[in-house]
Amino acid sequence: MDLFEYQGKQYFARWDIPVSKGGVADTVDEAVTQAEAAGYPVVVKAQVQVGGRGKAGGIKLAADADEVRTHAGNILGMDIKGHVVKRLWIEHASDIAKEYYASFTLDRAAKMHLAMVSAEGGVEIESVAETNPEAIAKLHIDPVDGLDLAAARKLVEDANLDPEARDGAADILVKLYKCFVEGDADLVEINPLILTPEGKVHALDAKVTLDDSASFRHPEWDEFRGLEVMDPRDALAKSKGLQYVGLDGYVGIIANGAGLGMSTCDVVKQVGGEPANFLDIGGGANAEVMANALEVINTDEKVKAIFINIFGGITRGEDVANGIVTALGRVDIKSPIVIRLDGTNAEQGRAILAEHESDRLISLPTMIEAAQKATELAGGNVTAAGGGKVTAAGGGNVTPAGGKK
Ligand code: GDP
Ligand code: MN
Repeated sequence: MDLFEYQGKQYFARWDIPVSKGGVADTVDEAVTQAEAAGYPVVVKAQVQVGGRGKAGGIKLAADADEVRTHAGNILGMDIKGHVVKRLWIEHASDIAKEYYASFTLDRAAKMHLAMVSAEGGVEIESVAETNPEAIAKLHIDPVDGLDLAAARKLVEDANLDPEARDGAADILVKLYKCFVEGDADLVEINPLILTPEGKVHALDAKVTLDDSASFRHPEWDEFRGLEVMDPRDALAKSKGLQYVGLDGYVGIIANGAGLGMSTCDVVKQVGGEPANFLDIGGGANAEVMANALEVINTDEKVKAIFINIFGGITRGEDVANGIVTALGRVDIKSPIVIRLDGTNAEQGRAILAEHESDRLISLPTMIEAAQKATELAGGNVTAAGGGKVTAAGGGNVTPAGGKK
């Protein structure tokens, strides 16, 4: 779960990480009230879960109530990279001498925590990594050992933070690491971490991603959930207990088993299509589960064709086929469906599907043919085209549609 900046700052404050005094506002009047409480000058900040708000005009300094009204009025309702601003964070404005960067994430490949600190803050860290990678000091931390003050101190020196910022920054790093670990986050990032002209270091922005797998031991996270921006497809899938990941393509995918689901996404890509999602219905492909899966995919406006890829193991082919047919009777599907059914009793299953075959329901014996067909059917309605025209012949001697990766 991603937190908004103001929630991230509230989270930081639990570990004594210094942040500016402020409050949230959902209206212009509330913004003025919060500004009076924080003390002028203030900064009016759009609360959206996307970076680069400053550049987009979503962050403005205000010296008095009139300016707060103007900026709050402009920013509320503003569209920042597809995110509409519904809430503001108003905080006392800071004077900035320097802007730095600090974060902790999990480096799964290294099985370690990864700290990154840079004297080049304020800008997007990805561009620093590209243009000036040596400006980012990195430290792998063994989770068993943790991060002590000495290591934090060395890290800020390696990052070349100004000498007067080093004590404050090292102190914040130790607290931020505690927040990361005890707070069960996957990411904590401060950009910018600032040095003020008075020599104080504090967090001017906050990006926190909480580890959903740890939510069972954090009942207090419920307070963050109200405003959570969840993909409506994800929300529906979650409520139905399906393993679903929304993607941006136009071929809806249903498979049984996570491995087959991922392969199905790959094959669709390989033939030039774009998967709209990953969806694993698990072992038993019964009518109930299939209907739920189809319902979730049906809500995705971008889907133009559906590819159901089932390999019967313990579940026999005829049961799968009957499940699909029953599900189709229950859900009014908007897109044509291509089914590849293989495994135990596949022949019997295909015979059942054949009775229902139409230009909206097509059964094909191999993954690649089915992926091609689904992509073609989808391509008729969308820009797909290009890579979607496939050279592969049926039966396996396939030339992957190159180019589109
Ligand atoms: P982002 O653009 O979404 O990352 O939003 P930030 O909260 O990081 O703010 C962007 C930039 O606005 C910062 O890098 C600062 O330069 C500026 N900014 C934010 N808060 C203040 C403030 O209190 N005082 C001043 N002078 N500038 C600020
Ligand atoms: Mn920022």
